[in-house]
Amino acid sequence: MQAVSLVKDYGRGENLVHALRGVDVAFQRGRFTAIMGPSGSGKSTLMHTLAGLDSATSGRVLLYGVGADGQSGSHKRSAQSGSSDGHAFVDLTKLNDNQLTLLRRHSIGFIFQSFNLLPMFTAEQNIVMPLTLEGVKPDRAWFDLLISTLGLQGRTNHRPSELSGGQQQRVAIARALITKPAIVFADEPTGNLDSVSSAEVLSFLKRSVRELGQTVIMVTHDAVAASYADRALVFADGRIVADENNPSAERMS
Ligand code: ADP
Ligand code: ADP
Repeated sequence: MQAVSLVKDYGRGENLVHALRGVDVAFQRGRFTAIMGPSGSGKSTLMHTLAGLDSATSGRVLLYGVGADGQSGSHKRSAQSGSSDGHAFVDLTKLNDNQLTLLRRHSIGFIFQSFNLLPMFTAEQNIVMPLTLEGVKPDRAWFDLLISTLGLQGRTNHRPSELSGGQQQRVAIARALITKPAIVFADEPTGNLDSVSSAEVLSFLKRSVRELGQTVIMVTHDAVAASYADRALVFADGRIVADENNPSAERMS
């Protein structure tokens, strides 16, 4: 995924806010990136714009490995999509609301601070919910791989209330990954967890990135959480002011 000269303004006149002042950044497949920075620096705006939840004022948002219909692996061509090095991509800034909804459903995973699990359903039912809503049967091998990678063996028939906070967040991670999305956004995923559960969730998230080849972008205030990522971007006043690889994250696995 790539942002090109991405600008986002809110309001106008006296209320004009430059939330993103021309952001250029590329996220490589199979890497875990943390976005840090003070409150109000533009982290959420970047994430929402990359995810197509918020429209850009100008610039482009390119998502690789998907076709214009939002399906991963599609090789369709249209005005909004293209191909470089044989990989299909779409420019999210050119899609209408219906196309964005489909794209989010098929190609983007979300992990929230508050887990957002459905209390009446088991962990397994929660995990496969994005597919159930589409009337699609889960790929059993992928489901089993997610369960083992996230350490959820023996927990799939439990309801959320029967699981610890850390286990609930791992269920939410499995739900985000079940559609094999091209990219996963995590918004303060450890914000509601104690430090022990946080460490556990981040280890499993990192392992998922490594073993399943997922691309994860995590917004966090927490430097400890960011230390699990392969790369940390630091925002200030709508710009990236630091972009650092984390060699210890590479070694730690
Ligand atoms: P962060 O996630 O780093 O806390 P945000 O992306 O939420 O920062 O905010 C960046 C700037 O944009 C801030 O000045 C914030 O007040 C402003 N902002 C964010 N959302 C809106 C909105 N919907 N309307 C007006 N201003 C907004
Ligand atoms: P924060 O405190 O991080 O700003 P919000 O109040 O913005 O949290 O709410 C959680 C997030 O869920 C928001 O960023 C919102 O834009 C996002 N969101 C809303 N609808 C969807 C959706 N269909 N899929 C994924 N995320 C969504």
